[in-house]
Amino acid sequence: MLTIYNTMSRSKEVFEPLVAGHVGMYVCGPTVYGEPHLGHARSAVTFDLAFRYLGSLGYRVRYVRNITDVGHLENDADEGEDKIARKARLERLEPMEIAQMYTRRYHDAMRALGVLPPSIEPTASGHIIEQIELVRRIVAAGYGYLSNGSVYFDVEKYARDHPYGRLSGRSTDEMNAGSRSLDGGGDKRSPHDFALWKRAAPGHIMRWPSPWSDGFPGWHAECSAMGAKYLGERFDIHGGGMDLVFPHHEAEIAQGVAACGHTSARYWMHNNMVTVGGQKMGKSLGNAITLEQIFAGAHPLLSRAYSPMTVRFFMLQAHYRSTLDFSDEALQAAGKGLERLMKAVETLDRIAPAPGAGPIDAGELETRLAAAMDDDLSSPLAIAALFDWVRVVNALHDGTTAISAPDLERLRATFRRWVFDILGLGVGTEAAGPDGANDRLAAVMAMVLELRAEAKADRNWALSDRIRDGLAAAGIKVKDRKDGISEWETE
Ligand code: ZN
Repeated sequence: MLTIYNTMSRSKEVFEPLVAGHVGMYVCGPTVYGEPHLGHARSAVTFDLAFRYLGSLGYRVRYVRNITDVGHLENDADEGEDKIARKARLERLEPMEIAQMYTRRYHDAMRALGVLPPSIEPTASGHIIEQIELVRRIVAAGYGYLSNGSVYFDVEKYARDHPYGRLSGRSTDEMNAGSRSLDGGGDKRSPHDFALWKRAAPGHIMRWPSPWSDGFPGWHAECSAMGAKYLGERFDIHGGGMDLVFPHHEAEIAQGVAACGHTSARYWMHNNMVTVGGQKMGKSLGNAITLEQIFAGAHPLLSRAYSPMTVRFFMLQAHYRSTLDFSDEALQAAGKGLERLMKAVETLDRIAPAPGAGPIDAGELETRLAAAMDDDLSSPLAIAALFDWVRVVNALHDGTTAISAPDLERLRATFRRWVFDILGLGVGTEAAGPDGANDRLAAVMAMVLELRAEAKADRNWALSDRIRDGLAAAGIKVKDRKDGISEWETE
């Protein structure tokens, strides 16, 4: 029974989808005006794990993760220059050129990290009509007001009619204290009102016509509009980084209630932040580390390059609701751990069963893995269970213990399913070839070694040697053990 921590209720709840067998999951995706960094990776890996695990439980998951390519204004008060337009001006590019370039770099990094593509990846710029319609509904319901060509959400009116601040646990008084005074024009009635539609200043490049002005949607509008379009007005899971709880998700909830009369998501899931040396990571703090820097080893904090799979494993070693402290040492340790785990998977492919060996119950491993993941996706507990069984695998390899054919088959299947399919490890490691190549090689090698064993049983030494030498020429070394079993490894 899967339980997940719901930020809304601040407790673990048994997961029950709205429609039996189906899950709708919306996750706030990247803003594409900068290099993909560790923060992007943590959120993507967290919800990739949820996507994979829900799929493994038999659910058909429709996973929507958006691309924020319209840009946000420079500060919380919705004033200033559009971030993509600013970057475009600095780099002398067309704004869409910037958005597309960083989208591609984000996709490349995610593929390397073994993050599966979501079912639908809508862009904010491709859903302006839907956002205008959302704003129109909010205005018609009396929760939006027009001011100088822009439309704002009336937070005070909303807070009188509905609970506001439940997700973040903030009262409007606290929000008042935290937000800056009315900047510049003073178009807003209250400092905590947020923009639904902004009139574009004359020099603003990204702009669209609307009933109110030539302008662009407020940041929070895109997720409400695209979530409803692809998952319906009510859906199961809404996720994102913890930094999005306020104001983004609080605003989304208010927009949904104002437009549709009810909240959209039933479970709110938030991954915690990445820290560097115990400090919050951020561009403004000068300690933001990009994924490309990690993969290339090009950062003063790094002693060498780390493979994307090492980064993924490093993230999965921590629970998604814990902060994750980044350091060179932590990545080194993760690299060693991953290597040990991969070695065990390879070893399992190479050891041979012993007829009549006593029972080894791989079911115990499966039970522990499922219990770990059912408990709010505890990947660290799942990894700990796998490592307990790596010791069993090593004992099988040393010959200190033996395993029967059916038990070995089950243990192999359990390792493969969990390490590759659910935790998403393995593809993209230095040793791995194109997707699935290792699996195919293992299958071919099992067949070739079986043929060689038959040749030896027929005392056909010439054929047996020819197979061994042919494999050696292809870079595969075969070692014949004293017990008659042959092992192989790639050079
Ligand atoms: Zn969002």
